[in-house]
Formats: sequence, C-alpha cells, structure tokens
Amino acid sequence: MGDGKLRNTIVIGSGPAGLTAAIYAARARLEPLCLEGFSAGGLIPGGQLMFTGEVENFPGFPDGIAGQELMARMRQQAERQGAELVTADATRVDLTARPLRVWAEDELYLGRTVIVATGARASYLGLPSEERLKNKGVSACAVCDGALYRDQPVVVVGGGDSAIEEASYLAGLCSEVTLVHRRTELRASQAMQERARGNPKIKLLLGYVVREVKDVAQDRVTAVVVQNVQSGERRELAADAMFVAIGHTPLTELFAGQLELRLSGYIEVEPGTARTSVPGVFAAGDVQDPVYRQAVTAAASGCKAALEAERFLAAEGARR
Ligand code: NAP
Repeated sequence: MGDGKLRNTIVIGSGPAGLTAAIYAARARLEPLCLEGFSAGGLIPGGQLMFTGEVENFPGFPDGIAGQELMARMRQQAERQGAELVTADATRVDLTARPLRVWAEDELYLGRTVIVATGARASYLGLPSEERLKNKGVSACAVCDGALYRDQPVVVVGGGDSAIEEASYLAGLCSEVTLVHRRTELRASQAMQERARGNPKIKLLLGYVVREVKDVAQDRVTAVVVQNVQSGERRELAADAMFVAIGHTPLTELFAGQLELRLSGYIEVEPGTARTSVPGVFAAGDVQDPVYRQAVTAAASGCKAALEAERFLAAEGARR
C-alpha cells in the first residue's frame, strides 16, 4: 500500500500535458506527485511524443527537436521544480469521495486534486490479421516505422489529415503509397487533400475497406485485401506494410462511470477550462481534446489544469 500521505495534486500521465501540469504545480509549491504511466502501447513514459521523430512546430526550437529529447527536457524540468515522478501506470481510481484515491497496482495515493492527462492511443481496424501482424508490418506510426520499408510499397488506411500526413511522409521513403479510405470523399482539409493528390507517389483508393492483412502464415505483411463498398469487388494490394491512421481513442477506461465522458470517450470539460464533472478533478491534453491534439496545446491545457488545481485548493483552504 502507498505511504498514506495526502497530496495536494496527483498528476496522471507524463506527456506534454501531464509534465507541464507537474511543472506548474511544483512551482506553485503543491508538491505534485506525477504517475508517469507507460506511453499508450509502449514500455516507456513520456506519451505519444516518445514515438515521434523530429518535432518542428514546438515553439522555441527553431531547428526542431526530437520528440524523445523534448520529453526528456520536460521531465527534467518537472523534477528540477520539485515534482515527484513515479514510473507506474494508474490502475484504478476512486473519485467519488474525498480524498480522491488513485492506485498504481497495490500502491494507493491520496489526493486533494487530481489532474488527468492520460492521453489517447491510436485506433486500429480490429481485424484479427491486423492484430497478429502488429509491429510486423502493421503500424500506426509512419515516423516510427516508415524507414523499415524504404523503397517498398505500403498502404495507409484512413481519410483524415493524419492519414494524409502519414502518406506524405511515407511517400518520401517508400516506392509507392496507396491510401485506402472507406468513403469516396476524404475527410481531410482541402490543403491536405491537394498535397496528397499532387504527390505522384500517392495513389488514392476511395470507397474501399480493408478486409484482411496478409500474410499471417509468413509472420509479415505481404498484401492488403480490400473490398469496394459499392460493388463488393475484392482486390489484393501488394504491400510490405500497412499504416493505420483512423484516429485515436482516449485513455479513459479508468474514469468511466466516475467522470462525465462524451460519447466518443473523451473527458468532458467545462468549455474553456480544465474542470471535469467532479470538483477537484481536472483534465488536460489529448484525453479531453479530439480536435487539436498538438504538443503545444496539450502543454497549454496542462498549465491551465495546474492553475485551476491551485485555485481550487486555495478556495478550499485545504492547501498544506
Ligand atoms: P479524423 O479526422 O477523425 O479521421 C479519421 C479517418 O479515419 C476518417 O477519414 C474516418 O473515416 C477513418 N476511419 C475511422 N474509423 C475507421 C474504421 N474503423 N475503418 C476505416 N476508416 C476509419 O482523425 P485524424 O486524421 O487522426 O485527425 C484528428 C484531428 O487532428 C483532426 O482535427 C485533424 O484535422 C487534426 N490533424 C491535423 C493535422 C494537420 O493539420 N497537419 C495532422 C493530423 C491531424 P470517415 O471519414 O468515413 O469518418
């Protein structure tokens, strides 16, 4: 069991939102505890940026910075400001009574406020063959895995901005990129669509769904079987990898039934704030943001959450 100490603020998550919340809370002398967690699907803390190559749009780094380096710096900054970092996943919470309770396996942590910054994980199609070939040619991150398929044909699935971003990145490495989308219209912004249509290496296959990824028997991707949604025609696209870019699923299972969630599973916050449906519980980053999903917007919302936690504690007169 935990140490029984009642903490002002427990931060769950260590992406840009969680670590920025930890930095601000530490500077406000809230002595925050940050349960870093393991990045969605990974083995390391630090959030989705740990799987990102060069980050070129985070202000302050004119030459860009590697995602892992950026997170290492945020982590260092949080520690230097006095945040206590624990490398463990939160496995259970009880936000129905005060003090708020957060478990990491058998360890129980008590908090006056909690900041949820658990992020979101990439969604997959849900096909058995896709599951079997994950990390063997099936990926949700072109920047992480694209280089493995240099000069080889690949498939990207999805019709949003992410799919086009992935396809454009892969077009710079691979011999051919086929973008498979289930509708005949792309969801992506006009500018992104033009980018895809103007790239001779990207082939659009619209109105098709993926039925199977081959070849499970060979333990690697050799082809993607697609089917036309109108005619039912099936065809096999030779490919050495399939990149799935069909959106993200927020990591909110822990909070179901305790915090108000939107239908899509994202945490509902009071517009313009980090306040959730439970007083003293705040949400920051991708777990409450299906739209912008940027490192800088996540960091900004982490800052807001910490400032609100500080105000909440001051109003309660509870801060020690
Ligand atoms: P998104 O906009 O929600 O697009 C998801 C795409 O995946 C849609 O085309 C959707 O099809 C398809 N899809 C969903 N579930 C599917 C399934 N089970 N089978 C097959 N296809 C499926 O997600 P996103 O592209 O990740 O973008 C999320 C947000 O980030 C957006 O606001 C986007 O603008 C933003 N973003 C911006 C940039 C940029 O500007 N550089 C880059 C990346 C992301 P339907 O169209 O049929 O629904």
